[in-house]
Amino acid sequence: MTGETFKKAAVIGWPIKHSKSPLIHGYWLKQFAIDGSYQAIGLSPDDFVSGIRDLVARDYRGCNVTIPHKETALAMADYVSDTAKAIGAANTLVFKDGKIYADNTDGIGFINNLKQGAPQWNASSGPALVLGAGGAARAIIYALLQEGAPKVIVANRTAEKAKRLASAFGEKVVAITLAKVPEVVGDVQTLVNTTSLGMVGQPALQIDISGLPKTALVTDIVYNPLTTELLKQAQGLGLETVDGLGMLLHQAVPGFEAWFGVRPVVNTTLRQIVIAG
Ligand code: NAP
Repeated sequence: MTGETFKKAAVIGWPIKHSKSPLIHGYWLKQFAIDGSYQAIGLSPDDFVSGIRDLVARDYRGCNVTIPHKETALAMADYVSDTAKAIGAANTLVFKDGKIYADNTDGIGFINNLKQGAPQWNASSGPALVLGAGGAARAIIYALLQEGAPKVIVANRTAEKAKRLASAFGEKVVAITLAKVPEVVGDVQTLVNTTSLGMVGQPALQIDISGLPKTALVTDIVYNPLTTELLKQAQGLGLETVDGLGMLLHQAVPGFEAWFGVRPVVNTTLRQIVIAG
């Protein structure tokens, strides 16, 4: 099984046992009959840097990095993509000639999920409203701006965090509190929940979106449950919705291509495998 042609990659986190990434990459490895592996490796924060160096020394092609290591991964990389630099975190590392290249594919995963799930959606059609100001929000705001959103409104429980995030992106991004959402939804064309509210085990996201234009797209990056209360509310209003599972699947594409040399496609079989897993 081992040897120069055997290609190894992994996902690193702490804890790691709930990661869906091995299911995703395992499906593609099998689909393309690639001589390779993708495993989940748990590394505590104290062991992360030495653990990554060990993977480099053992000829891994690279790895995904998840909570709580995304900032450390960025800091230890030899080369950092503009995207990862702007987001301030890395989720994809590629090892080449002993060097570490860091990228962040969460934002492009979010965009490609919308492009697949709602092909007529266009970021430039109007302002976007992002609920939440955590790590995922940062990646998504960056991606929406890159994609041509004319304005991004970020609404968060902790106002100070939203303000800090908005000021990092310049004048196209403005911060509001969650209470102000009903006042701004009138011309929003893309609404995304990036808070953890609505996820199994978390309180519901209670927000009135009835003032959204009929042309607005509503998406949630929470994918457990697949159809969150926010998406149900949007569907009840006749609005187009896209669930968050596709973001997880699409963010995996660039890493797989870099490590294994084939660009995979997100299809319904993969969706079903991940839902069942
Ligand atoms: P994070 O950095 O911890 O941010 C959490 C956000 O949720 C913050 O804005 C926080 O507001 C807000 N929040 C938490 N509890 C709240 C409450 N009770 N009321 C109001 N706001 C609350 O987390 P993250 O990494 O950005 O991830 C956020 C969610 O996205 C998680 O559920 C994660 O599983 C999901 N996610 C999905 C994907 C995907 O591929 N689909 C990718 C990444 C993340 P404060 O600032 O006020 O605390």
